[in-house]
Amino acid sequence: MNGRVARVRELVAEPLLVTNLVNVRWLTGFQSSNAAALVEPDRVRVFADFRYAEQGRRLVGAEFVQTARNLIGSLREHLPPRIAFEADHLTYDAYETLAGAGLELVPTKRLVVGLRATKTPEELAAIRAVAAITDRMFARLAEEPFVGRTEREVAWRVEELLHEEGAEGLAFPVIVAAGANAANPHTTPGDERIERGQLVIVDAGGTLGGFCSDCTRTFSTGELPERLRDAYETVLRAQLAGVAEVRAGRAARDVDAVVRELIDSTGFAGMFGHGLGHGVGLEVHEAPTLRPESEDTLAAGAVVSVEPGVYLPGEGGVRIEDLVIVTEDGCEILSPFTKELVEVS
Ligand code: ZN
Ligand code: ZN
Repeated sequence: MNGRVARVRELVAEPLLVTNLVNVRWLTGFQSSNAAALVEPDRVRVFADFRYAEQGRRLVGAEFVQTARNLIGSLREHLPPRIAFEADHLTYDAYETLAGAGLELVPTKRLVVGLRATKTPEELAAIRAVAAITDRMFARLAEEPFVGRTEREVAWRVEELLHEEGAEGLAFPVIVAAGANAANPHTTPGDERIERGQLVIVDAGGTLGGFCSDCTRTFSTGELPERLRDAYETVLRAQLAGVAEVRAGRAARDVDAVVRELIDSTGFAGMFGHGLGHGVGLEVHEAPTLRPESEDTLAAGAVVSVEPGVYLPGEGGVRIEDLVIVTEDGCEILSPFTKELVEVS
């Protein structure tokens, strides 16, 4: 029985029906697009249809139960009369099916997701490894020409370099945003050619053993207008200040506030419109969140991004993002690639 399951049992009195597939994977190692797990005091069962039966037979530490393709509809006969469920995940339709079958359903919220926020040493090792891959990608990318290539071409190259450096896949679609496009924090790479004198945001991460990395650097393609140079210096100062605020026990929103106030005290007030960061693990966006309305406290062993930005409509944008492990007295940075402005050709 693994330690993750034991931690769930400590938090909930009833058997817990886990329907969030990432949580199922985290608890049991089982990967499926149609599965659920039930954590009971003395056993863990994984339910999935025929397509996953072979994987199910190889499960260690959990019993596999083959169901019909209509997973929720066929669960009733296997479940005890009173169960806890993931109220922030189970659909209303599935709830009706289970309640209609006479089950007593006790809601839980963010229970497994909360546990996932604190990483085990093995998880930290996986995240360190994929962050190192991403770092090597940035080092190689910085040696390549940007001017004359399209955002999409550079994004594809980023993907290629991540694979060459050992990533199994992408944590999310690569973002390459140049010039005015960089004023849009989550744009998709387009067919415009990158020109001289622009800022280019590259935000990318790989996966390894299911775990994600996430890193952003902003490059320049030569002499910049003064306002963009200032924006870069401001974001860098804010990012360094944010990293310096990260340590176990801090309220996530306080870390966000330090960075936000710093940016708002400059000529770029109000231009940092998104949260400071987020947890990274099996998902690239998970608990804890670092933003003004966050209720989360940073715990030692959490992996979070610190990624302030400044976005200037029509002109350009800057974002600098590190991935860090929260420690008792600070944090360990997993993305050592330089944050000084790198000029690419
Ligand atoms: Zn990112
Ligand atoms: Zn991020």
